[in-house]
Amino acid sequence: MSTDRTDVCIVGAGLAGLACARYLTRSGIETLILEASDGVGGRIRTDVIDGFRLDRGFQVLLTQYPEPHHQLRIDDLELCRFEPGALVRVRGKFHHVSDPLRRPTTIWDTLRAPVGTIADKARLAALILDLRRTTPRELLRRPDRSTADELRARGFSATMVDTFWRPLFAGIQLDPELEVSSRRFTLILSMLAEGDAAVPAQGMGAIPAQMAADLPHGTVTLDARVASIEGDGVALTDGRRITARAVIVATEGPTAAELLGLRDPGSRPVSNVQFAADAAPIPDRLVVLDGDGSGPASNLAVMTNIAPGYAPSGRALISVEVPGPLVPDDGDLLDAVRTQVRGWFGGAVDSWTHLRTLRIAHGHPDQRPGFSPKQAIRVGDGRYVCGDHRDNASIQGALYSGRRAASVVLADLYR
Ligand SMILES: Cc1cc2nc3c(=O)[nH]c(=O)nc-3n(C[C@H](O)[C@H](O)[C@H](O)COP(=O)(O)OP(=O)(O)OC[C@H]3O[C@@H](n4cnc5c(N)ncnc54)[C@H](O)[C@@H]3O)c2cc1C
Repeated sequence: MSTDRTDVCIVGAGLAGLACARYLTRSGIETLILEASDGVGGRIRTDVIDGFRLDRGFQVLLTQYPEPHHQLRIDDLELCRFEPGALVRVRGKFHHVSDPLRRPTTIWDTLRAPVGTIADKARLAALILDLRRTTPRELLRRPDRSTADELRARGFSATMVDTFWRPLFAGIQLDPELEVSSRRFTLILSMLAEGDAAVPAQGMGAIPAQMAADLPHGTVTLDARVASIEGDGVALTDGRRITARAVIVATEGPTAAELLGLRDPGSRPVSNVQFAADAAPIPDRLVVLDGDGSGPASNLAVMTNIAPGYAPSGRALISVEVPGPLVPDDGDLLDAVRTQVRGWFGGAVDSWTHLRTLRIAHGHPDQRPGFSPKQAIRVGDGRYVCGDHRDNASIQGALYSGRRAASVVLADLYR
């Protein structure tokens, strides 16, 4: 057994841990990140398999998130943007639903789409206008309830909820039952209404790669799993001990809860199935929503329509997202997904090559009503916590939380 020493030890090299380490090292603090897996990025990684760039699940960066503009060199990510709106599959056809304020030419398609009544479309426009006039701070002060209750209170019909809101927010918040906090729902919707969803040209993994590249050599130790936090440091599963003036736990919420004795925030699971095809089944840069509720997938995107570099030249990459409880068997899930998308795109789906299925038990922390970001960072003497479960379950929340943790530690120990 050996013992090493550092000023600050961070557990976990996801976005929160990396963000925290960058602020600390820029202030001249000796920082060590211990990461259990074989790479940085946590839930945001991209694996290159046979020339395809496979993100670990369907993930996008919203250009309206404020924190990436402070912490990332956005231009270097070469963002590739989705078209605003969605292609909704209802009653055997695809319908383009968009924000007429941003895409005036889509107004007739949107009005005609069988995803609710004309009054629903007017309510949608009113909701977007309301969100545009309200700051994020004000949204977070509004009374909190479930997303389903919020939509009901705003008068949306059951058809509009089932054909549009449910598949959209099943995908975004991993929330097929629309149970998540209305504060989070309105916050995310306001960002979607004002900005774009985008992916870096080389995959979502370019985000943590950029952050890690800024850290001094040797800051991150991979394949180093922390077993416990004890005394003035941490114990690793391989028997090593690291002592530090401050320990910051930047793991997923359930692991942080276990290591620090906090309340487990709960988990929203999600699966993702990715296919290669010789031709894209649709030409659009739009996300496809399952408006019929046929399931199991809530949404699909032809990633190469948005970012051609996600696949070798001439091939298409299709990413299918299945939020909700994990299906125990990969084969059953693949069969069910193929059956569903064959119903959308026909027999061509049988020639698609299955590239990978991921089942992610902790996709998001479960942020139900009573949601409040900016949760405490300091949880004991020399012990701190950060991550998306302390702010909001997103890239924005993780980055912001990491920055907050660094400033609290700097204030506590170094001023
Ligand atoms: C499928 C999916 C889709 C998503 N889509 C979006 C999206 O479109 N837009 C968006 O903004 N957000 C999205 N999110 C959420 C976003 O990915 C997360 O909010 C964010 O990445 C969380 O970062 P984090 O640093 O808090 O935690 P994590 O990324 O989970 O990082 C925690 C790190 O701690 C490490 N660790 C755990 N235990 C230990 C231990 N004992 N010792 C050492 N290391 C340990 C882990 O290996 C991991 O690297 C999505 C998430 C998923 C799963």
